[in-house]
Amino acid sequence: MRLTNTLIETVISDTAGPDVVPLVMKLKNKKNFSEFKLAETLKQEVNLTRNMLYRLLKYNLVSFIRRKDKRKGWYIYYWTFKLKQVKFVIKKLKEGRLDRLKDRLQRENMENFYSCVHNCMRIAFDNAVEFKYKCPECGELLALEDNSEKIKQIEKNITELEKFLKDLNKK
Ligand SMILES: [Zn+2]
Repeated sequence: MRLTNTLIETVISDTAGPDVVPLVMKLKNKKNFSEFKLAETLKQEVNLTRNMLYRLLKYNLVSFIRRKDKRKGWYIYYWTFKLKQVKFVIKKLKEGRLDRLKDRLQRENMENFYSCVHNCMRIAFDNAVEFKYKCPECGELLALEDNSEKIKQIEKNITELEKFLKDLNKK
């Protein structure tokens, strides 16, 4: 699978946050880029730049080296974006989503859900009994829901995710 910019943007948004995307786009094709220069390029404070870099570091999406500035006597950090790590992070994110979808599918298949005609809420059977089949919001009688469409949609999403992960593992 090719790592397109769109894919990289999605991964960065889902992990470090959407505000970090411009930083990654600047850093992506460079090696050992000084955080001061990076801040300057982005026209933002060094502290904010560092904060963003640490967010990326949490997901192991960047690495750094530090060198002492002989003149000023302090350390300067030089950063590199780890493009290869993106694929690994995508895999983890998608696998997590797949697990949650499978749990949800199991719940949808096993339980009966009741919903209010006014769309106030949707609750599982046990709770519906507890509320005597009346909507706790508006008092309307709750109706047993046909969740076959929802189940179909979840199954479709699961198939898509499994295909995505299969393609990802190919290369
Ligand atoms: Zn209601």
